[in-house]
Amino acid sequence: MYQLKYVFENNIPLFDCNFCGNCNGFIESKSLIHIKNRGCCWYYPKYTLMDIRNILIIGREDFIHNLFTLNNTKVSNFYIEVNGFFDKSSYEKYEGSEEFDTRLFFRVCPFFDTNGCGINFKLRPHPCNLYLCREVIEFAKDKYKLYSKERIDYYSYMNYYNEQIKQDLRSKRVDLLSDNKLVLELLKGYNIPQFEPRKLDTISLNRNETVNTHCFRNNKERIIIDECV
Ligand code: SF4
Ligand code: SF4
Repeated sequence: MYQLKYVFENNIPLFDCNFCGNCNGFIESKSLIHIKNRGCCWYYPKYTLMDIRNILIIGREDFIHNLFTLNNTKVSNFYIEVNGFFDKSSYEKYEGSEEFDTRLFFRVCPFFDTNGCGINFKLRPHPCNLYLCREVIEFAKDKYKLYSKERIDYYSYMNYYNEQIKQDLRSKRVDLLSDNKLVLELLKGYNIPQFEPRKLDTISLNRNETVNTHCFRNNKERIIIDECV
């Protein structure tokens, strides 16, 4: 049985959906590159200060240090982004006429492994853990509403404290470009309250009914698309 369940550990949430990987024919999972089963992992992970802090708090500073050493990492003042594969030449030959940015069909995340995501969920930026495609949301029907609220609340929590941290770093005239070691030390020391998760029931996905597919650009749930195209 396909299920959607909520996991929350170490201040890090996960919408754990065991349907993922079975999304043949979903527009969001359409892949025109050599890896066909990459689902919606065309995202290039972007770690905000709060994502980095969560990872530091679980003792995985080594993972953050490793990000700084990767050739495909782009470090900005207040975030770290890891670029993945993009088949530019195939994209330029593509003649589809979709109304959204079709570069997504030609991308894959650098952490995608043969069987899905290659890193533990606690090492991902939060948009990865809280994203569900339109189809899975429709399978969950009305029961998804509370999950949606949880997602919005966690985003608000992360954004709020991310801004607070940024302000503090600005006042100290330090950022990830000028002194990343100092920023990591400061991140570990901030006294930030833990997010208080809801208790969400596991949802059995109703995947046998016919579902409508929609242009995912119209899906307001999809926050990460706007960040990455
Ligand atoms: S969220 Fe949807 S598109 Fe993404 S991996 Fe899961 S089933 Fe596939
Ligand atoms: S980090 Fe993992 S879940 Fe996120 S896009 Fe990459 S492979 Fe997918």
